[in-house]
Amino acid sequence: MLKITRYGPVLRFDLSRSFAGRGRYWTAAYQVDGMLVDTGCAHTASEVERVTQKENLTRIVNTHSHEDHIGANGILQRRVHGLEILAHPAALPVLADPRRTQPLQPYRRMFWGWPEPSVGSPLLDQEIIQTERYRFRVIYTPGHSPDHICLYEQDQGWLFTGDLYVGGRDRGLRPDFDIWQIIASLKKIAGLPATMLFPGSARVRSHPDEALKSKIAYLEDLGQRVLELHHRGWEAGAIARALCGGPMFIELLTLGHFSRRNLALSFIRNYEGK
Ligand SMILES: [Zn+2]
Repeated sequence: MLKITRYGPVLRFDLSRSFAGRGRYWTAAYQVDGMLVDTGCAHTASEVERVTQKENLTRIVNTHSHEDHIGANGILQRRVHGLEILAHPAALPVLADPRRTQPLQPYRRMFWGWPEPSVGSPLLDQEIIQTERYRFRVIYTPGHSPDHICLYEQDQGWLFTGDLYVGGRDRGLRPDFDIWQIIASLKKIAGLPATMLFPGSARVRSHPDEALKSKIAYLEDLGQRVLELHHRGWEAGAIARALCGGPMFIELLTLGHFSRRNLALSFIRNYEGK
């Protein structure tokens, strides 16, 4: 399932596998000036291929290597001669061999599926990607994954945040995310003069600074409260139940892989390494 929305020169593709005619767990990809920022999941790869067919596509930039962001890399690389794929160096082995390097739990196979392999080239922190009309600065923003980057176009005020920012108040997390790194990465991009925030899912925001600062404040406050209870001897599950609200359907769906407990645990475990 694919929906297209235009924001001036930026095209947004909302992508989801459909179940009984309804989309679930959407991800977003963007096309601007011949560049595709992320490519959705494997289940929507042929739709992305079809909708981008007439466009003058020259490169893909992957914000990170999660399967719902690299799914159409392979099909597009086969179709578009000379198509360049750029990603953080740590993402390249995953692009090359997703099945071996990124095991998927059943819920991830169901919603997003195994991406086809693709060949990418490395992007460095602070590197500039020059398209015909725009200049995108690469900002290394680990935490959601070790290979996560954001893109910033200074003249237009565009900030492409991938999955670093997809909404304001996180209540759960996966065990492989590092919440303190996420906070540090949010701080890296919060100070940038931006007018539009294009996230990896959820809605586009017109006041990035407010949205980012409010999220940082929320997470830092939550982190302090998690650590206080932890130092009083509370167990992570009890902390999560006390501070992160009621049960979430996604906890059941993912068999606890994405959970309130993992958010509390990340605040505790990753604190020492901060
Ligand atoms: Zn992700």
